[in-house]
Amino acid sequence: MHAHITLLPGDGIGPEVVAQGRLLLEAIAARYGHSFSMEEALIGGCAINASGDPLPAATIAACLRADAVLLGAVGGPQWSDPNAPVRPEQGLLTLRATLGVFANLRPVKPHPVGAKQSPIKAHLLKNVDLIFVRELTGGSYFGAKQKTAEMATDECRYTVTEIERVTRRAAELARARRGKLTHVDKANVMETSRLWRSTVTRLMREEYPEVRVEHLLVDAMAMYLLTRPADFDVILTENLFGDILTDEAAVLAGSMGLLPSASLGTGKVGLFEPIHGSAPDIAGKGIANPYATMLSVAMLLRHSFGLEVEANAVEAAVSQALDDGVLTRDLRKRASVSTAEAGSAVIARLPQRQRRAA
Ligand code: NAD
Repeated sequence: MHAHITLLPGDGIGPEVVAQGRLLLEAIAARYGHSFSMEEALIGGCAINASGDPLPAATIAACLRADAVLLGAVGGPQWSDPNAPVRPEQGLLTLRATLGVFANLRPVKPHPVGAKQSPIKAHLLKNVDLIFVRELTGGSYFGAKQKTAEMATDECRYTVTEIERVTRRAAELARARRGKLTHVDKANVMETSRLWRSTVTRLMREEYPEVRVEHLLVDAMAMYLLTRPADFDVILTENLFGDILTDEAAVLAGSMGLLPSASLGTGKVGLFEPIHGSAPDIAGKGIANPYATMLSVAMLLRHSFGLEVEANAVEAAVSQALDDGVLTRDLRKRASVSTAEAGSAVIARLPQRQRRAA
């Protein structure tokens, strides 16, 4: 197949890990007979430095003409003044809204190497294989905001349509996986949560009766995620709860450098990025872990292009590199490898050339 991919390296370690993502896409194209054209554009702090705008019009245009977007990370200490007129994160929020990517998928399946780093007991991590579906373009992050010297509000607003479309995404995943959907809310207190609960219940009964559904309160879920993580399959939740719970779930995997994400909408362009930030403490040293970005490439191949075989090959190659002890410094202090060495190790573990009809 032919596809066009826009790369947004961003700030800090973003360019270092996205460079490995690009090499991986080139290797997949060569081995499986695809043609991927790629272009790069600015987002975040580097875009503010260049033009004063964290998401320049040229970047939006580059994303809208792409079939998929791979992003590194944005932000860093030089742009972190909360009173600054523009901040790098605004670029990311506006990009998500522009692309209409309302469903954020974050799989968590700890590899034994990462699990060893996790503060959670090993027996609790056995058989953990879950995926979050977080609503990404609604709720209090996007509601009306007000601030005076004496008060501030962030409106949390959801429509039935917004809840239904993300629920369908989660339900499709649950049906293709182990047939269980856990919906997380705060329905004992919040009206928006009560709307979520009634909408999810009705839609699942009408359209996905074969999927088991449970509803949990977010405060209880914060505990269960650490005390019985293996019980969960697909976890559906709203924007703010999802932001917090997905970072909590990252603890299960042992390192920020191992977790990918995909943000999808009904439009054709998906946005794929590692869950970690720009890691300014290690930026420029060539030691960042590229595996989360490479696993994000696997999600890109699967969800934007339907290339399941290629996606599985990338995931298997990353897993094999971890098994073989090809570890960056976040995973092993001594005898660790560089970002480039880790990236090459994954590419070297892809199956040999398998041309097939384009
Ligand atoms: P971070 O994820 O950048 O770093 C947290 C810790 O994890 C650091 O010690 C870092 O060195 C380590 N780490 C992260 N990714 C790693 C990798 N691939 N390999 C090895 N180690 C890795 O989070 P932070 O320090 O809270 O934030 C730094 C900056 O990133 C801030 O400006 C923040 O706003 C931004 N940020 C951006 C995104 C995004 O672009 N989506 C997400 C989170 C944070």
